[in-house]
Amino acid sequence: MILGSTLEQWYARFPLIRDLVALQQTTWFNPGVAPTAQALADVGLTAADVADASARLTRFASYLQRVFPETQSSGGIIDSDIMPLTRLQPLLSERYGQTLNGALWLKRDSHLPISGSIKARGGIYEVLKHAEDLALAAKLITLDDDYALLDSERARAFFGQYTIAVGSTGNLGMSIGIMGAALGFQVTVHMSADARQWKKDTLRAHGVTVVEYASDYSVAVAQGRQQAEADSGCHFVDDENSVNLFLGYSVAAERLKLQLAAANIRVDAQHPLFVYLPCGVGGAPGGVAFGLKLAFGDAVHCLFAEPTHSPCMLLGVYTGLHDQVSVQDFGIDNVTAADGLAVGRASGFVGKAMQRLLDGFYTVSDEELYSLLALMERSEGLCLEPSALAGVPGIARVLAEQQGYLARLGLDCQAMANATHLVWATGGNRVPNDEMQAYLAKGRELLAQPQA
Ligand SMILES: *Cc1c(COP(=O)(O)O)cnc(C)c1O
Repeated sequence: MILGSTLEQWYARFPLIRDLVALQQTTWFNPGVAPTAQALADVGLTAADVADASARLTRFASYLQRVFPETQSSGGIIDSDIMPLTRLQPLLSERYGQTLNGALWLKRDSHLPISGSIKARGGIYEVLKHAEDLALAAKLITLDDDYALLDSERARAFFGQYTIAVGSTGNLGMSIGIMGAALGFQVTVHMSADARQWKKDTLRAHGVTVVEYASDYSVAVAQGRQQAEADSGCHFVDDENSVNLFLGYSVAAERLKLQLAAANIRVDAQHPLFVYLPCGVGGAPGGVAFGLKLAFGDAVHCLFAEPTHSPCMLLGVYTGLHDQVSVQDFGIDNVTAADGLAVGRASGFVGKAMQRLLDGFYTVSDEELYSLLALMERSEGLCLEPSALAGVPGIARVLAEQQGYLARLGLDCQAMANATHLVWATGGNRVPNDEMQAYLAKGRELLAQPQA
């Protein structure tokens, strides 16, 4: 019995669960998607909240520029560029046996400064928000000060009285740990069993306390939460529920809008934008998608991508049970090479807030992630971590639905020829070379095999 029903009863009500349990690559287009103007109200946050987050990041820009010289070229703003995937696109057409029209682009959050993953948006934002709240309350700074003055022994001693705790599969811990430690906070990162050794080593080298667990992400998060409850000076970064993380991610969209305009890419009803976002617990893709819907309205179509072994958001939204259900409930093991995506239970906050704003969800096998990793390197010379490739198959999944999903949107072949498909690459730049070579070797081996 699973939550009071037999597996057969589940299959009868939710036929797609059968494919998820069989670990088959699956695509689900969300029939519950609603007009943006209506569905935005579900989120409980507004454009003003995103603008407030953006202004806060701007206040910290002088500090970030000083402490992380790699952000100097962007004036202390943490952002990544976009690039066309003109060499990869024909290889994908060949791989999927489909003509993939439209323009395929990549958002390189894999190369974000400071921590080399999308977590440099939400994770760093939440630490800065917490630091600002404390510093303003203690009159260490005012809103009009140059925040570069937080790069001082006095400020570090002040923040050193406080602790930050977080549970993570790796990348969130990296962002919180590196940023928190630079400000002077005592940071403890509770790491799940799947976290890579090099991430733990990096954090320890930054003076972060790393606590390791033999179990998965949920347990690491629960332990972090427990530590924070026992200590009033401890701020817990709640990856499953944090509004601040979500807002940190959402700021990406307004900047993307400027980048697309600069590249002469139109986005409107007849020039749709499809965005493919790798999803773990949901905060990063959810926050980015929220920002995208505010920026582009009905012209943007967001799809979440998950590993076949961890389809938690698909399961939660599809069944409407959100965080009441986990992939493990159905015997799906939540074991995947996709760091950051190995999450068995999705954020209830994100699922409920975003379920009418997301066009679809799909799963990708680890073998496919590795193959695409090698194909990306071969064609574009770009090295990404496995999770970051989850967005790549999205274009083929969407274009295969000309009769169903695309017809429902009123997008014919002509409109789709004008479409832009944006793959959100979420990590990879900080992966050590030996580890990257191992990923590539695995991917090349899979590419050399005849496809099933
Ligand atoms: C964390 C992470 C994601 C997904 O973010 P969630 O907020 O967990 O959904 C995607 N890719 C990478 C590389 C990540 O580290």
